[in-house]
Amino acid sequence: MRSDPSVHGRLRTVALPDGETVPALGQGTWNMAERPDRRNDEIAALRIGVDLGMTVIDTAEMYGRGAAEALVGEALGNRRPEIFLVSKVLPHHATRRGTVSACEASLRRLKTDHLDLYLLHWREGVPLDETIEAFEMLKQAGKIRRWGVSNFDVADLEDADSLSDARRMATNQVLYNLKRRGIEFDVLPWCHERGIPIMAYSPLEQGQLVEHRTVMSIARRLEATPAQIALAWILRREAVIAIPKSSSPNRVRENRGALDIELGDDDLQVLDKAFPPPRRKVPLQMI
Ligand code: NDP
Repeated sequence: MRSDPSVHGRLRTVALPDGETVPALGQGTWNMAERPDRRNDEIAALRIGVDLGMTVIDTAEMYGRGAAEALVGEALGNRRPEIFLVSKVLPHHATRRGTVSACEASLRRLKTDHLDLYLLHWREGVPLDETIEAFEMLKQAGKIRRWGVSNFDVADLEDADSLSDARRMATNQVLYNLKRRGIEFDVLPWCHERGIPIMAYSPLEQGQLVEHRTVMSIARRLEATPAQIALAWILRREAVIAIPKSSSPNRVRENRGALDIELGDDDLQVLDKAFPPPRRKVPLQMI
């Protein structure tokens, strides 16, 4: 397994549309703060990840109904300047006023005065212009540095684009991993053409990819682990940020090692055969 906790150097970075750069590998927090017996490990895992440079921390008001944000606040409150903090507003809160109150509640739980990035978790009934207006208000007030979207297919991105200058959208956080390649057909090119990075969620397909035969066999050959192969496959792309979640400090170290793996053309061909790229439009999938 490739993991060297002594590697503290800066990770490869991805540029956001406003010029800010963030590490290409971060950490997710969904399902954290659900089990008291794992709490200490979760806190340690987040801190170790930050030590290793995985400073993009993705959370949401939805996760554990605020409990994941509170855990992040506890784990990283005193390391706030080091981290790039991302949270999300639930669609049914995403009205002009609701977005502002949801953000303020997230800030309180996270024990901070601002978010680096605030996302609309997914699109539902509230008109998008209301949410974007609220995001702009929060930005003016210094409560968020920038905003973005999540689970937006091309039609949604076009709508957001028509309501605001697309360059003001900092990211589109979407499901992307070896098994879920649909975005390669259109969402990924749409965002790349406009300089908007993608944030790949569930990069391990919620852990399932580590048991896939092809991924396991490439891992054996490269003396890596299956999780590292699945992450390295995502990280080889420019302008994509991966946010694997692990509540285990050792697995966080392991995931960090993915950045040191280079997949060769032959590996990529084998993976393409096992997980074919899309040949036509596939409606955006969500978890
Ligand atoms: P991931 O693909 O990151 O997989 C997480 C699972 O994989 C956990 O069960 C974890 O277990 C396991 N795992 C992690 N590392 C390893 C490893 N090295 N070897 C074996 N198993 C491993 O799934 P998520 O759905 O959590 O996605 C990541 C993050 O993306 C979320 O936590 C969340 O922040 C975000 N997200 C956003 C969504 C959106 O709608 N915007 C939707 C879904 C996710 P363990 O913790 O026990 O190590």
